[in-house]
Amino acid sequence: MARAIYPGTFDPVTRGHVDIVERASHAVDHLTVGVVEVSSKRTLFDLDERITMFTDAVAHLSNVSVQSYSGLTVNAAREIGATVIIRGLRITSDFEYESEMALMNRRMAEDVETICLFSALEYQILSSSRVKEVAALGADVSDLVPTNVWQPLVERLAVKRNGSQK
Ligand code: ADP
Repeated sequence: MARAIYPGTFDPVTRGHVDIVERASHAVDHLTVGVVEVSSKRTLFDLDERITMFTDAVAHLSNVSVQSYSGLTVNAAREIGATVIIRGLRITSDFEYESEMALMNRRMAEDVETICLFSALEYQILSSSRVKEVAALGADVSDLVPTNVWQPLVERLAVKRNGSQK
């Protein structure tokens, strides 16, 4: 069995992401969640917050670790000795993007294989952006994010709302 990396922005981690990690963790020896460094101007949570939230959400899985990376995912995979990139699929939205990305990554790294997993049916319309969008409008979507994520999410959205009112 292999070592794998599950790359993403995870702004913030949702139950869909955790579902993919749980499935992948049964199939590989070790799974590293790679939280990509992007400018904090473009994300609701900064890198450390995204890492901490994901780490807490997968604390029950002994063969999963969470770390940051920057640059090409294939380079990050090689650095940690991963031969597999895990990606998650939602039936209605991800196939085109994920297949293009997988083939581009293969072009750069023949030795790294992309494996896509489907999340459970109840998470098929779930994304970090949708959660932020509806939570900002007051919807209770606490069942769509890990329990440790809901409070920080509500608080951060309130800070953002109050900031933009000034
Ligand atoms: P990215 O910025 O790479 O799109 P995301 O944090 O949005 O990062 O997602 C990381 C990976 O998890 C992607 O492969 C994405 O398709 C997958 N993913 C996100 N939400 C879900 C979900 N609800 N079910 C299955 N896969 C998901």
